[in-house]
Amino acid sequence: MTLDQPPMNTSSASSPVSSPTPKAAPLCLPAPAQPLASPAHFSADYSPSLEFDNTPQPLPTLPSQHVSAANPAISDLTTTSTLSEYGLQIHRHYSTVHCLACLIAWIPSKVAGHLRSHGFTLSNKSEEKLLHVLKTLQVVDKETPLHPKELGPPVEGLATTHGFCCTICNYACVKASMIEKHIGKHKEMASQYGIAYRTGHVQTFFSPTQRHYFEVTAPPPPPSNNSSMLEFYTTNLLPALTATTKVLQPIHHHELPLMVQMTGWHDHLATHLVDRNDIKNLLDLVTVPTRGSGSRLAMLSNIAYEYLHLCGRRITKSSFEIRKMLQKYPMETVHFKPLEDEETTQRYATILAKLANAIIKSIDSSRNKSGYQFPLSTADIANANGLLKHLKEGANKNEQVIALHILVHPFLSHFATVMDSEEPGSKWNRVIECFIALLSVQENGSFKPPSAMTQPLAILKYLCRITCFLHALAQLEDSTKDLES
Ligand SMILES: [Zn+2]
Ligand SMILES: [Zn+2]
Repeated sequence: MTLDQPPMNTSSASSPVSSPTPKAAPLCLPAPAQPLASPAHFSADYSPSLEFDNTPQPLPTLPSQHVSAANPAISDLTTTSTLSEYGLQIHRHYSTVHCLACLIAWIPSKVAGHLRSHGFTLSNKSEEKLLHVLKTLQVVDKETPLHPKELGPPVEGLATTHGFCCTICNYACVKASMIEKHIGKHKEMASQYGIAYRTGHVQTFFSPTQRHYFEVTAPPPPPSNNSSMLEFYTTNLLPALTATTKVLQPIHHHELPLMVQMTGWHDHLATHLVDRNDIKNLLDLVTVPTRGSGSRLAMLSNIAYEYLHLCGRRITKSSFEIRKMLQKYPMETVHFKPLEDEETTQRYATILAKLANAIIKSIDSSRNKSGYQFPLSTADIANANGLLKHLKEGANKNEQVIALHILVHPFLSHFATVMDSEEPGSKWNRVIECFIALLSVQENGSFKPPSAMTQPLAILKYLCRITCFLHALAQLEDSTKDLES
């Protein structure tokens, strides 16, 4: 409500009532209203050049305000330009003058003294003017016990403290000893009421020795427009930011980690890294289903493990000369050692299973929601379907292992024979390069750091070796059907 609004209906209100408005608006001092033309009856002591501070009409005691969403709460406090200079406000319902620094009501005779305690220097003339304003506004000038008619929200302009409230009458205070003393007065009734008092929020208008407290409901939380930037960010901005599935893209190439700049993973996968859902679908390609999922592809982990195991056995049985070649020809004193412990073999098998999983999923539109395609030949696709056929319960283990070998060998051997002179960008014609790019992607669309990529690369290097070895061995024996010997 602003000062120039017409006064509300005053007919029904003869005594101060509760102000039931939830105080959503902060206690701020409104801008001084335009002074009205000076009334004729004003005494000559106040020349027209002085500010006539009679803007608000004498305050009526108002009935309850009706607050709704369409008509939100408005402050019960108002002020005038003179009063606002001293941080004083008038309560519309109670016609009391409040010091906003102390949140206490003062009677006019005590106002000047109180303002001096706040460090204001009031000349006689300004004190006179202040008292005149207060008199004009007909503020309460006796420390009479004021309180809302019924329990309601805190009265604006008054401090709210924790206190004790009598459950039999409306007595309230802030000291436990006082409430105990008071309860004594209800002796005969206390037994039927049980505990005769409770703790609650209390307020008082004036500051005389005999303070008159009354109970109010809990004060509302602080208004949101006084909140910190952080609170505004977390309540208003963050939900909107987290609701989107779009991924922030680097503005410049230099924002990418050096390894990503060099590998070109970001460029290669650009269209698949725009949205979190796309990324999820992309990562699904390199995620082998768990055994409980019911997917046939879950068997790949076991088959890959068997494959590594078989290679290990065959390499161990082979001659020193062959194992020396596997390591690095022509180093003579070092020879290739296949994996021995189960845990490491399992870890290596995981990468191999992921590779087979990615290829099989990518050629099946019902499995490949990402749309990503590996550079596969017709033969590769036939090999992938061949392995898929062997993924069923009770299938011949040896045939499964051979089918896996037939699928991955062309990719790994191609990867093993890269020429330095190849055209830039042509590496995306190699399945393993594409596979490494997929392995590097993280859920948020960023890429794994180099430290997290050395292991997969080392594993792929190992897989290249054993696959090529097994292939050479099979050719030697002129049969891939009898790898186990
Ligand atoms: Zn004060
Ligand atoms: Zn009582």
